[in-house]
Amino acid sequence: MIEVGLPGGRAAFTTRRGGVSEGPYKSLNLGILTDDDPERVIENRRRAAAAAGLTPERIAMGWQVHGTELREWGGPPEDPGYQRPGATLDRVDGHLTSLAGLGLLVLAADCLPVALASPAQVAMLHCGWRGLAAGIVQRAAERFADPPAAAIGPGIGGCCYEVGPEVLAAFADLDGVADGRMLDLRAVAHAKLRQAGVERVEDVDLCTSCRPDLFFSHRRDHGITGRQGGIVWREAS
Ligand SMILES: [Zn+2]
Repeated sequence: MIEVGLPGGRAAFTTRRGGVSEGPYKSLNLGILTDDDPERVIENRRRAAAAAGLTPERIAMGWQVHGTELREWGGPPEDPGYQRPGATLDRVDGHLTSLAGLGLLVLAADCLPVALASPAQVAMLHCGWRGLAAGIVQRAAERFADPPAAAIGPGIGGCCYEVGPEVLAAFADLDGVADGRMLDLRAVAHAKLRQAGVERVEDVDLCTSCRPDLFFSHRRDHGITGRQGGIVWREAS
């Protein structure tokens, strides 16, 4: 797990190491909507929560749809989908809370998990190209009373992300985010954070596709792969 300290909280980005899954899901697969054994995924999730010092009942997540909707959490989830396969999840790609000790989780396997934190609030965003193009970063930053800092987790790099013209067109207004058909999603996230007034940005700068030893990659593994997680939480002050 890669941890990043932020104002008032911490972000943690899981790797594929330290879990119990096998085959293409080896080993710390946190994605239950895969062909992996759900019981193994639940054990992996228990381990990931423990590594972050969080209890599984206090981790909130959603059903990700590459959109820009956010859910604000005023308490822990009533039906904790992190622990229970089949729980009803809101179709959201971002989470926000001001509660301490409540983990906000997104899953990814090339998309970027992006954490935002100010001393009073934290947010976790699932940022693929669609969400970034549609303004998820701006939408989340607007919910903060004070400008947040950000942490960008592992995701597919410009080295490995060839895209079609419709994707390039979505970012035609941004300088330096593409080289030919190779899109640098990380550079897009930096640009969107800058536009949203986020000045401090920590970046783990790791490409999921280049590092099969560390990460699952949807593109590299042709869709048969696991999911890593990005988690953020406020620390009690
Ligand atoms: Zn790469």
